Amino acid sequence: MKKKIAILGSTGSIGKNTINILKKDKKNIKIVLLTSNKNIKEILKQQKIFKVQNLIITDKSKFKIIKDISKKRNFKVYNNYECLKKIFKNKIDYVMAAITGISGLEPTLKIIKYSKIIAIANKESIVCAWNLVSKELRKNNTEFIPVDSEHFSIWEILKGFKINNVEKIYITASGGPLLNLPIKKIKKISKKETLKHPNWSMGKKISIDSCTMMNKVFEVIEAQRIFNLPSNKIEILVHPKSYLHSIVKFKNGTVKLLIHEADMKIPIFNTIYGNTEKSINTKKINFKKLNNLNLQKPNLNKFPFLRLQKQIPSKISLF
Ligand code: NDP
Ligand code: MG
Repeated sequence: MKKKIAILGSTGSIGKNTINILKKDKKNIKIVLLTSNKNIKEILKQQKIFKVQNLIITDKSKFKIIKDISKKRNFKVYNNYECLKKIFKNKIDYVMAAITGISGLEPTLKIIKYSKIIAIANKESIVCAWNLVSKELRKNNTEFIPVDSEHFSIWEILKGFKINNVEKIYITASGGPLLNLPIKKIKKISKKETLKHPNWSMGKKISIDSCTMMNKVFEVIEAQRIFNLPSNKIEILVHPKSYLHSIVKFKNGTVKLLIHEADMKIPIFNTIYGNTEKSINTKKINFKKLNNLNLQKPNLNKFPFLRLQKQIPSKISLF
């Protein structure tokens, strides 16, 4: 039977990576729903390739344009997420939640009950409302898999282990485009340069958050929420090559590291296919990078947002 899939934010960087992975397995996949905000050109291409029956376009003017096209091409298009109950009669197999920013929260919360598995890339949902998300997951018996590379790697490492066995978790940060720039030159940097991440190709919001390293503060909170660990047990290490994604030190004295190329297709592929016989084309192990992990403590003067880590409350006050 075909795997039934929905992608929230299918026209973004994570969404397109997900689509590209699924294209290689088209005969085993049925995409039931794709969503975007404005990019109707891209979503129409995706609709055609997978003959998708349902689209959600949140931008009002783009919705009007696509409504006409939908009649000719015989698919349904909606303007908001109230329509989910019409679309899903039974639970589907997998959802990728990849809308950017807090706009992703409501769709993510709403779709949990309609899927057996939800892979959440939308870190803002986790940072701002993990309690709501996890409540919904439990209530509907939906499995959650983190997509953010550091969290995906911790999740992989922790398989078969209890969180009580963990002494410390280290998440890595490339340092972004500012890593080697003297502080006095930062004020003069252009928008284009701030968006130019040395290792990852990502959407604009996360690229800017990576440049200032605010992204790592979000990721500490994200890890605290997902793995139920106090934030002082999570440390940030700069690792310019983004080959190593996390280190977990266990109380039994062992240390585990997870390494893969800086390509989001790897975590995404694993959230879809997990430990199956399916394979993804990847490069050979890069021993040059492995021999030169070059782990460093981050420079708090250059990245002052990182000081916020100390202020993250250990108890979550939201409900
Ligand atoms: P992009 O900006 O590339 O894509 C965002 C997607 O969300 C697009 O499909 C966009 O539609 C849609 N969208 C934007 N605003 C709205 C809205 N108001 N309502 C509905 N849909 C909307 O983001 P990324 O793919 O880079 O990131 C997605 C999420 O994944 C973020 O939370 C990010 O932090 C997280 N993440 C991303 C990584 C990456 O490598 N990119 C790595 C780890 C985490 P449209 O195209 O029409 O604008
Ligand atoms: Mg990350």
